[in-house]
Amino acid sequence: MFEKLRSMVRFLDSDSKTDLTKKSDNDHMTQFMTLGNFSLGMGKIGPANRDDIDKQILNMMYERVAAGDFNIPVESNLPEICVDGRTDKNGSRKRVPSAAGGTLSIVYGFDLGNSESVDKKTEIELTAEVIDILKNKKHTTAVHGDDHSDCGCGACAKAPDIYRYIIKEIDAIATLTNNYGISISDTEKAYVTKTAEKRLNQSDFFAEDRSSVIEAARSHGADYEELVDAHNELGIALNVKAGTTVDRAAIRREFGHQYDLFVVDAWTFDNAARELNAENHPEVADRISKAIAIQNVATASILGHSSLPIIPIK
Ligand SMILES: [Zn+2]
Repeated sequence: MFEKLRSMVRFLDSDSKTDLTKKSDNDHMTQFMTLGNFSLGMGKIGPANRDDIDKQILNMMYERVAAGDFNIPVESNLPEICVDGRTDKNGSRKRVPSAAGGTLSIVYGFDLGNSESVDKKTEIELTAEVIDILKNKKHTTAVHGDDHSDCGCGACAKAPDIYRYIIKEIDAIATLTNNYGISISDTEKAYVTKTAEKRLNQSDFFAEDRSSVIEAARSHGADYEELVDAHNELGIALNVKAGTTVDRAAIRREFGHQYDLFVVDAWTFDNAARELNAENHPEVADRISKAIAIQNVATASILGHSSLPIIPIK
């Protein structure tokens, strides 16, 4: 799946468009597709809502991120920390791959892509089970909060909204993923939306106290990051370079503390799906991987503004 994604990234790099930046006679500016180009992005986070950034610097950041200048090697091959662009109070993050909600991205993807095997479980039971499976396979897991809210991880705090959004916007979400080489069939769309609907109708599935999901993950051994300050994300780094992630602290050092990005290490999705697919059915693993992609796009669209560009990293 990701070979195709890589070739799409190369194609898009030469052919993408956004109205965020304009070419002028004096400087060359790379253009990227935004969430809005796919009719997605109902949140607040994004460059159009910022008055503390310099457009030239922003463009330089996008170009250098796209070129892979801030990619650093990681040892883990599963998504572990959240896409959140913030850091802890020391300005750092765990050096591991990212997906929306960290390990919770695997939990929701496993649920949405493989509902038969998790029938009737609650979100908290499922979180505990997935973390135990990964722990038994010697993988580290992680979740996060922040220093100023009850449940500081949007992917977790807004999980029911994200499920609702998936039902409503599955076609737009699939159009986006398809643009980046992840093709989701009508059957797969129907499977995922049906599962989302089932969970929303299962009265005890989602925990009312959203922070209890983070607590459940921690009590089963997930690491915890406490992130600080406000959301300053100005784009979504879509990373398909296997064995790497994007160094958020290095971006801040280079461009300033207000320049952050969501980081999606999409190359890890297939690996996560394979780890959880004990019966080794390739079509199930494929559907879980795609469900993780869907959960990531939906989370970005719930939190992110339509002006957020998607920056594919070659
Ligand atoms: Zn988060």
